[in-house]
Amino acid sequence: MNTYARQPVSFTHGQGAWLFDEAGRKYLDALAGIAVSTLGHNHPRIVEAISRQAGKVLHTSNLYRIPLQEELAVRLAMLSGMDEVFFCNSGLEANEAAIKLARFYGHKKKGIDLPSIVVMEHAFHGRSLATLSATANRKAQAGFEPLVPGFLRVPYGNIDAVRQVASRSRDVVAVMLEVLQGEGGVHVVSEDYLRELRGLCDEHGWLLICDEVQCGTGRTGKWFGWQHANVRPDIMTLAKGLASGVPIGACLTSGRAAGLFQPGSHGCTFGGNPLACAAALTTLDVIAEEGLMDNAVRMGEAIRAGFAKALEGVAGVKDIRGRGLMVGIELDRPCGELVVRALGAGLLINVTSDSVIRLLPALIFSDSDVKALIEGLAPLIREFLS
Ligand SMILES: *Cc1c(COP(=O)(O)O)cnc(C)c1O
Repeated sequence: MNTYARQPVSFTHGQGAWLFDEAGRKYLDALAGIAVSTLGHNHPRIVEAISRQAGKVLHTSNLYRIPLQEELAVRLAMLSGMDEVFFCNSGLEANEAAIKLARFYGHKKKGIDLPSIVVMEHAFHGRSLATLSATANRKAQAGFEPLVPGFLRVPYGNIDAVRQVASRSRDVVAVMLEVLQGEGGVHVVSEDYLRELRGLCDEHGWLLICDEVQCGTGRTGKWFGWQHANVRPDIMTLAKGLASGVPIGACLTSGRAAGLFQPGSHGCTFGGNPLACAAALTTLDVIAEEGLMDNAVRMGEAIRAGFAKALEGVAGVKDIRGRGLMVGIELDRPCGELVVRALGAGLLINVTSDSVIRLLPALIFSDSDVKALIEGLAPLIREFLS
């Protein structure tokens, strides 16, 4: 189906932060398949882990025990301090599980028949009917109504708006947000806001759901974005970069949200199969062993500082922001065209929310990659704005 406005290029192979097309042209990948290729391309440890597992068994079924899935669950629980994990294949599936859990919690624990979940402006949670309804993008929703009910939307980063919902509605069971918004335009909230939100959830017995599909798995310099604010969610979702390109999603619970699902409550045929879990475990090993979270912090700062310098005084650059290797450069006008111009110059970037250049490089991005990115992209931005 004609569901993507694809660029006229295809890649035959990659190495580190670089991809090569059929004509042998080389591209600096500053997008990493939208925050998926955590370890870059052709990382020897991932190649080895997947090959080894493929020679043993790819898939058995969640009808049986899967030792690698158990190992991955324990690892994620250790890294997050959370209690339980459900595995699936994608971000929306993880969020779908989170939404079902929150509703289940409302029914079973709070006696609420029609539970509501507070969601944010600019949010992106996926494209299934429930996650699309939780998403804030009207363009993505248009034509797919009726939407799933049970979501209350508030401005992102505004604690008073959440307080007002609390005083108005008795059916709220959870607050769901990205700690750092990706698709919505790389928006950052303060750590104070997150702590206040945690407090409000505790006060009202709501679940705090953090969608870490894009900002999780080390990208912001911590395993999970909420760790910067020292709050722990009751539910967390992961996907994108968790297995460096092998599809996997995860929904974690702790505290009030733990122990709710029982056999028969939820399921997933492929979820957490041995191949995906081998790739995820290796991804987590390499992030820890190679110091890639520190690297994400350093490279992210270098990218933001480098563009701030290279674009200093350029009219039309509104903001350069982000955390770790989630970078947004907001212009004063729609700039989708820059994606094509960058491609022509051998750079893979993204534009989201019409006017925000989004960079999500692999966590193995190096100083020389940063230099190549700034030297390649800054002149294109200047030229575009002039
Ligand atoms: C990409 C994304 C999703 C959806 O993930 P899919 O794997 O495409 O379903 C959900 N939430 C956030 C924050 C995302 O960035």
